[in-house]
Amino acid sequence: MAVYDAQVLRGTTAESFERALRRRYFTDPQRHGKWLLIPTAGSAKGAAGFPRLLLHFGMTGNLRWCEHDAELHKHDRVVFDFAAGELRYRDMRKLTGIHLARDEDEVDDVLAELGPDAQRIGEDEFADRLSRTSRRIKPALMDQSLLAGLGNICVDEILWRFRIPPTRETRDLAADDVFRLHREMRSMLRAAVRAGHVPDDPSWLTGHRDEPDRRCPRCSTALRHAKVGGRSTLWCPTCQPG
Ligand SMILES: [Zn+2]
Repeated sequence: MAVYDAQVLRGTTAESFERALRRRYFTDPQRHGKWLLIPTAGSAKGAAGFPRLLLHFGMTGNLRWCEHDAELHKHDRVVFDFAAGELRYRDMRKLTGIHLARDEDEVDDVLAELGPDAQRIGEDEFADRLSRTSRRIKPALMDQSLLAGLGNICVDEILWRFRIPPTRETRDLAADDVFRLHREMRSMLRAAVRAGHVPDDPSWLTGHRDEPDRRCPRCSTALRHAKVGGRSTLWCPTCQPG
């Protein structure tokens, strides 16, 4: 393994990171919200699955599988060696990074504030959590302590499918609306997870986000663009009146 840029490491140095992972291998990874958790195993004694890597990819990060002799990309920050190739943590902006958790407490230090995962939360818990907050729907869905996993573009897409404006107050949603919103969210996430990102297909709102003349793929109305909850937000004033 090699650390090319220790700025992506959180709460550890390159030396102790390399030492902690020496002669260990990755076991079954899990995702929670925007975090990827990778337990490790090896011959050294210790709690099962520890140390554990907690990776967050921010806006520009990802993991790339490369051949051993593939040229190093300038944004490859950490490279994990395997017999068959290399797994590279590539990140341009380094907004987040890699934590090394040595035990369950250290996992909690990083993840304890997170709500349930958006792809796995049941409709009753979703309704319950939304009913306990009173604010506009866009910032509510993006609040990782309420629900983990939804980002800015994701939420715009869900609200456009659901046909409600991002400025709608959560207290103005009827019980039926909340269950329908839960279904839209799950179906949108299934498609996004399959694609590996929010699809920028022409039939999706996201497919029109970067166009100079942004129009709704459903009704061709000029899309509205404004900050909602501090984030750049896109919606269709015809499909999402409010
Ligand atoms: Zn529309």
